[in-house]
Amino acid sequence: MRDLQNVTKPMTTAPLAKPDVKLENERSKPKWTLENFEIGRPLGKGKFGNVYLARERKSKFVVALKVLFKSQLQKSHLEHQLRREIEIQSHLRHPNILRMYGYFFDETRVYLILEYASKGEMYKFLMAQPLQRFEEPSVANYMAQLADALMYCHARKVIHRDIKPENLLIGANGDVKIADFGWSVHAPSSRRTTMCGTLDYLAPEMVEGRSHDERVDLWTLGILCYEFLVGKPPFEEEKTDLTYKRICSVDLRFPQHVTNGARDIISKLLKYQPEDRLDLKSILHHEWVQQHLTSEVRSKLPYFQSQDQIQSEV
Ligand code: ATP
Ligand code: MG
Repeated sequence: MRDLQNVTKPMTTAPLAKPDVKLENERSKPKWTLENFEIGRPLGKGKFGNVYLARERKSKFVVALKVLFKSQLQKSHLEHQLRREIEIQSHLRHPNILRMYGYFFDETRVYLILEYASKGEMYKFLMAQPLQRFEEPSVANYMAQLADALMYCHARKVIHRDIKPENLLIGANGDVKIADFGWSVHAPSSRRTTMCGTLDYLAPEMVEGRSHDERVDLWTLGILCYEFLVGKPPFEEEKTDLTYKRICSVDLRFPQHVTNGARDIISKLLKYQPEDRLDLKSILHHEWVQQHLTSEVRSKLPYFQSQDQIQSEV
């Protein structure tokens, strides 16, 4: 109950609390069971189960309940990754990161209690646009929100590694919400073999199998920015080996409608060498972002605001 009531309070950027989520060896009584929820309409179908709109009976708090089948998780050897997803996502508190309020399980299923993102999947929203692409001001505002959320994550040594429209949801106010944490953090190699098309978002150091750090998220932000503006990722090709070559040679081409400001930020993020990429703070300060950033979105960038405050106090 405590967790669900907390959500109405403004988020803080306090350090992560000590994890209190354990899937196994759970000593204390689980907080939640299915009985606590009224189940509503399905929101979507996932690879390992479905997601339903649900309401906690006592507080009437609306959530999204993601139901995963244990048997399928076991078959794919993904229990470990699910545990990581829960550990990571349940301790992050940022308005642009989908909240995970808790979890519970029964004989056959694991249930994740998630923040309900009422405007649904970013990918569908992108595809529903007149030219399957967003206008530049919207993209600049999404970039600011994502940069702020990633600054928060990176400060906690959490790398997402898989920022793409399918992993982003949209909240009631049109705010972007990063979802699907644990999978991406710990499963880049299995993803490459099990899912086709994922290569498009991978940084050169990842496709080349070299070691990588949080700067892969800067690359994927560049890919995402391009995809939002153009409607498809920059290195998309029918043949994977051609995409591979184009990623590694950073073969970047822009359609005419992309403005110089947008080209500038994308080119500065899509740099072969991780150390040459624009950092997250510079994304927020970039002229093109600043030009389009609305005061409403600006006022809701908690990490950026708190960092600015720290600097002005020093
Ligand atoms: P994963 O991406 O973790 O491998 P998945 O793709 O199998 O899992 P999800 O993306 O979590 O499954 O969920 C499937 C669909 O359900 C989404 O595409 C989205 O449309 C809907 N959905 C999931 N979570 C939410 C949420 N919190 N609020 C609203 N809709 C959601
Ligand atoms: Mg998904």
